[in-house]
Amino acid sequence: MNLIDMHVHTSDSPDADIHAWRLVQKGIENNLGAIGFVAHLDLNPEDFCYGSFNAEGYNESITLARNEAEGRISVSNGLEVGEPHMYEEQVKKLVDYSNYDFITGALHSLEGIGMVLGKEVFADGDPFDIVEQYYADTLRMVEISDIDILAHMGLFRRGLALAGLSSDFNELLLWPDTVERILRVIIERNIALELNTSGLRRKEKITYPIPGILERFRELGGTLVTIGSDTHREPYIFYGLQEGRELLAANGFSGSFFYRNRKPERILR
Ligand SMILES: [Zn+2]
Ligand SMILES: [Zn+2]
Repeated sequence: MNLIDMHVHTSDSPDADIHAWRLVQKGIENNLGAIGFVAHLDLNPEDFCYGSFNAEGYNESITLARNEAEGRISVSNGLEVGEPHMYEEQVKKLVDYSNYDFITGALHSLEGIGMVLGKEVFADGDPFDIVEQYYADTLRMVEISDIDILAHMGLFRRGLALAGLSSDFNELLLWPDTVERILRVIIERNIALELNTSGLRRKEKITYPIPGILERFRELGGTLVTIGSDTHREPYIFYGLQEGRELLAANGFSGSFFYRNRKPERILR
């Protein structure tokens, strides 16, 4: 089975710089069976990508990418919505979700605390308080948001590592109730758990979520998983997909999923 990457940013997002059609070429070169594009849709003024989303431009990029693909690779268009539990009403006034193949919910920022992907918030507060809040907000997000995929759960490890702090702990042991509740809610609501491999290329050298959470998700009956490299630019294109796939297999998952028209599909070619 070919690799599937369900978290690839195109130059339509201000923090990424490779055209979608070029990523399709790269995907074919790298033997990918399917590629899921996302554009950042952030309505939090603190966010670097705040207000950058342009539906028309993104749509044009996807059309060019599909033309380039010519059936050699499946192309899916998605959105990465920042903090949908806080901004979804406004987001839905801007875009029609039915125009997209999938919607991911991404927690980049905590209410009243700030962005967790940078080191700043970890300079002042107790890191464990922040992580505890991160999981409380994640639970809220998956309980109420209209999303298909929970993106990069555990992204705070990037901020911790940048702040020079250790992230070598298991949150399942620290806050078992909240973390398990999140996993149960996504199973109930048919939301996929993304295995984001971008942490493997960073200092923290671990996936989001950590393998222990993946294992618990499977034990609780979870089967819906996606793999995403969170590609933004060279040289890290599709980084860690193979390792992600092996990690899924090692934890008893029979494959990962692709989305079309907001429905999960297994790709077996
Ligand atoms: Zn993100
Ligand atoms: Zn992303």
